[in-house]
Amino acid sequence: MSLSSNTHTLVDRFGRTVDYLRISITDRCDFRCIYCMSEEMTFLPRAQILTLEELAFIAKAFTELGVKKIRITGGEPLVRRGALSLLQEIGGMESLRELVITTNGSRLEEMAVSLKAAGVKRVNISLDTLDKEKFKEITRTGDLNKVLRGIEAAKKAGFERIKLNAVILKNRNHQEVGDLVQYAVDNKIDISFIEEMPLGVVDHERAEDYYSSASIKSDLADKFELIAISDNTGGPSVYYQVVGTSTRVGFISPHSANFCSTCNRVRLTVEGQLLLCLGNEHSVDLKRVIRANPGNLDKLKESIIQAMQIKPEKHEFNLQEQPIILRHMNATGG
Ligand code: SAM
Ligand code: SF4
Repeated sequence: MSLSSNTHTLVDRFGRTVDYLRISITDRCDFRCIYCMSEEMTFLPRAQILTLEELAFIAKAFTELGVKKIRITGGEPLVRRGALSLLQEIGGMESLRELVITTNGSRLEEMAVSLKAAGVKRVNISLDTLDKEKFKEITRTGDLNKVLRGIEAAKKAGFERIKLNAVILKNRNHQEVGDLVQYAVDNKIDISFIEEMPLGVVDHERAEDYYSSASIKSDLADKFELIAISDNTGGPSVYYQVVGTSTRVGFISPHSANFCSTCNRVRLTVEGQLLLCLGNEHSVDLKRVIRANPGNLDKLKESIIQAMQIKPEKHEFNLQEQPIILRHMNATGG
């Protein structure tokens, strides 16, 4: 089959079809969330990161290989200059069904309307607390009110779906899970709770902060009736409907649930590394491929197809040990 045809699909050794790509378009961020970064971070020099053109070129190869959904993330994707034009370009790619974005919300107030116009269908917005002081503690540099105004702007812009992402840490924000769900219900949006993942060394002990999805679920049971629904994204999320509302609550539990057998996704870092698994180091250097073969889409596609052969069967995270994954989440593309 010609690699130029649009009928190729990406299948790994375990028979899993990869049709979802997450692209980190920057490792930089205007926040310094305690679970994601250490206070002092060194970011990549410009020469080391993919240009906007290179990012679009790789996205094109993936869509031609059957990828139907692309999530743009970071770092904070909306701090990259030119992010909007990149989104427009990817949003217009033939055969892509869904362009979605994950953001900390700091720039949504200004950008929500343009993002919708660029073809972004759904937005995930990180929000770990509704308490101004705690928000500052967790994000170190963020402004809660600005993010809340960003969420309002996203609602007005009319995305198909808005979902909040909350990383829950014991004794920092675990007491707030009920308030966060109530906020989602009041705003007719969805929310997912995420267990902290040991990616990179940060400034606290991961094991001490661990708060399980099971604990969150039992905390919520006092106030909300949740029924399991079958929304399956092929990822680590398990969804529930809040009875009597339009809100869905997701639990992303990398520690307590095994979702690897249905994994349908790969990640591209802004350095051009194709990561085959969030919890393993298996990767292929696509920047090297495109810089050695400028403009050669077939060569790039060949490398992507070959990369499927090293997608690991599953990940192992261990909170008690030093992280085996040295990259931070901002470099990984959460
Ligand atoms: N800056 C954007 C944001 O915060 O939404 C996009 C990138 S951020 C790395 C993507 C998601 O990863 C966020 O929802 C964030 O809360 C989550 N995240 C970051 N570090 C994490 C960690 N160590 N464990 C679990 N989730 C993490
Ligand atoms: Fe920035 Fe998102 Fe990481 Fe927070 S989680 S530091 S907002 S990249």
